[in-house]
Amino acid sequence: MARLPILTHPNPVLRTIAAPVTALTPELVKLVEDMAETMYSDDGVGLAAPQVGASVRLIVCDPVPAEQQGKDLLVLFNPEITLGKGEVEWEEGCLSVPDVNAWVTRAERITVKGLDHAFKPVTFEAEGLKAVCIQHELDHLDGKLFFDRL
Ligand code: ZN
Repeated sequence: MARLPILTHPNPVLRTIAAPVTALTPELVKLVEDMAETMYSDDGVGLAAPQVGASVRLIVCDPVPAEQQGKDLLVLFNPEITLGKGEVEWEEGCLSVPDVNAWVTRAERITVKGLDHAFKPVTFEAEGLKAVCIQHELDHLDGKLFFDRL
């Protein structure tokens, strides 16, 4: 595994709509491992592929306290939110926008569809920090940054 450099605003890759993933290749398996290592070593709870310069629809999330991280890594290819309910305000930061935090309004509960680490279709519900994290990372795949929502 390798820790990857994280692109920061205003890098144009962060403003590009990422391409869907059509097949799980060895390169993508390695990218997932490297993204996880990068996220953990930078104390993040989520990371999207464009943040490390790969403009593909892939996110990783592990929205639990640091000492519990690494046990239940969420990997999603081509994630979509099919339903959003309620509203929650969360103070967000982003590894691509260093030293800025802001309160952002998101859906409180979401239904998510995508492909898991093994490229198997999954659908599940998420709430709280996990829901916020998925919404934040999914925005990256559409070229959006959290401060666009302020
Ligand atoms: Zn971010």
